[in-house]
Amino acid sequence: MRNLQPFPSARSAASVQGGNDDATQHARYTRRMFQPRRMKHCRVCGSLVTYRIPEDDNRDRAVCDACGEIHYENPINVVGTVPVWGDQVLLCRRNIEPRKGFWTLPAGFMELGESTAEGASRETDEEAGAHIELGPLFTILNVVRAGQVHLFYLARMLDTHLAPGPETIEAQLFSEAEIPWPEIAFRTVRTTLEHYFADRRAGRFGVHTGDIS
Ligand code: ZN
Repeated sequence: MRNLQPFPSARSAASVQGGNDDATQHARYTRRMFQPRRMKHCRVCGSLVTYRIPEDDNRDRAVCDACGEIHYENPINVVGTVPVWGDQVLLCRRNIEPRKGFWTLPAGFMELGESTAEGASRETDEEAGAHIELGPLFTILNVVRAGQVHLFYLARMLDTHLAPGPETIEAQLFSEAEIPWPEIAFRTVRTTLEHYFADRRAGRFGVHTGDIS
């Protein structure tokens, strides 16, 4: 998964410009926190963009000063799987930043031209080379600060063949007792694993939704 950032780096309050009182400063700072993807150049003509509220709109957009194009930026989907073999779950150790060296479920950004299920299967193949049968949707987790929605599907591994891709240092099966909790890369992965083991103990699997603050 390229450049997956559930936790955008906090911007320094010192970098905030403008605002004459604390309330204004706070509002500007908060607004910036919720816009982790700041565009610099127009995708149409390459000129610099300015963030401002266009006419008949109600929030800041990247507006091109040269050609007038308004760039709408919306949350992106991260899709992945919980690959299961017996009582074990497959994790991948990340070979890329952020969280290089930490463990994750196979997941990555959804691509144009595919469904969420197809994206989850593709990422599982790319990152682990695992042969799976995709199961039902399991978690839908909002990561509002990062402008992302993470979706994980249950998946049944068909065999233990693994062929990790370049984004993965190693792929390995873990029982619940072996899960390296302090070395889990992302909170959405941790939350999904917690739901998985809780549901397994309860003997039934549901769909879980939640917000990662
Ligand atoms: Zn332009």
